[in-house]
Amino acid sequence: MHNRLIYLDHAATTPLDPRVLEAMLPFLSGTSGNASSIHQVGRAALQALDDAREQVALVLGCQPKEIVFTSGGSESINLALKGVAMALRAQGKNHLISSTIEHHAVLHALDYLVEYEGFRVTLLPVDRNGRVNPADLSTALRPETALVSVMYANNETGVVQPIADLAAICRERGVLFHTDAVQAPGQLPLDVNALGVDLLSLTAHKFYGPQGVGLLYLRRGTPLVPQINGGAQERRRRAGTENIAGIVGLAKALTIAESERTTHASRLRALSERLIDGVLTRIPQSWLNGDRESRLPSIVNLGFACIETESLLLLLDQRGICASSGSACTSGSLEPSHVLLAMGLSPEEANGSIRFSLGKQTTDEQIDIVLDLLPDLVAQLRTVTPCA
Ligand SMILES: *Cc1c(COP(=O)(O)O)cnc(C)c1O
Repeated sequence: MHNRLIYLDHAATTPLDPRVLEAMLPFLSGTSGNASSIHQVGRAALQALDDAREQVALVLGCQPKEIVFTSGGSESINLALKGVAMALRAQGKNHLISSTIEHHAVLHALDYLVEYEGFRVTLLPVDRNGRVNPADLSTALRPETALVSVMYANNETGVVQPIADLAAICRERGVLFHTDAVQAPGQLPLDVNALGVDLLSLTAHKFYGPQGVGLLYLRRGTPLVPQINGGAQERRRRAGTENIAGIVGLAKALTIAESERTTHASRLRALSERLIDGVLTRIPQSWLNGDRESRLPSIVNLGFACIETESLLLLLDQRGICASSGSACTSGSLEPSHVLLAMGLSPEEANGSIRFSLGKQTTDEQIDIVLDLLPDLVAQLRTVTPCA
């Protein structure tokens, strides 16, 4: 990435860690082998695949065979939701529960299940701080509930959900629980048994691994209908020749993320507190979106009265600062964020909010450059379009 660029969009994607690239290179050059082939080249690929699965299992505290490698977060989430829903439908379970603040991969997979497969869905609300209340889950559960899916940490606000509490309620009622943990690696613990989850989705490019590879953790015995049919790969749960280089990279990136988690998280915490304090003290009519305590240290979502985020993003981009309006899928459109609306913000407040997401290469100096620029840019926009 360009030296003078200030990249504050790590929640959208992270740069590839050079150590990860190094681990991948042998499988990108020459014949990388097909893990299903009998000969020595194939066996080498299979060995790399087995090793990667073991490394991942070590981080998640699970069995290697409980890991299904996929093409990324969206595929893992679709496999979890559709796979479990379709497997349990025969038992009369036609109800699913999730939350209003999920990533579109979850919300649109649920829409599909409603529209084409006849499922019913309950979305749990969040409070002003963006948190799901476990009591609401207890009330929403029905005898016909097949699966509950609540994200570990939100990609727009960074707000962390009480996953262990939610999962415990589900376990007690005999309902399966999935979490979209895509934003968690390197910042939050990932032990699936401590969390009590049955399914968990990850994607490598959110933790300094390559794009286009992810995983689904699937607790032993969890019923699942495969969504990609073909060969017998991944114990018949996901057909298709494995992306060996990508999987090797994912395993390396996840191992690094976990081993550096506490230092990484506390470094990010200091940087993001500096950013939040700086903005709130220097810019009038500004606020932090989402709980200040129960938050990923990498994500800072700030609101400014009487501005349009899109205009602010353009001004920042001209100065080499990359930020986001929240979800990459909605940027470019003027649709207010469904996450911020669900938290009770008005459409104007939501459209005046901006997400800075910090990462390994973010420095105090970069934060200070943003803090020096931002008050003027906000003031400039407010004079162009004064408050209604
Ligand atoms: C990025 C993201 C996804 C989607 O992952 P892809 O690898 O882009 O498919 C899902 N959920 C959350 C919370 C994300 O941040």
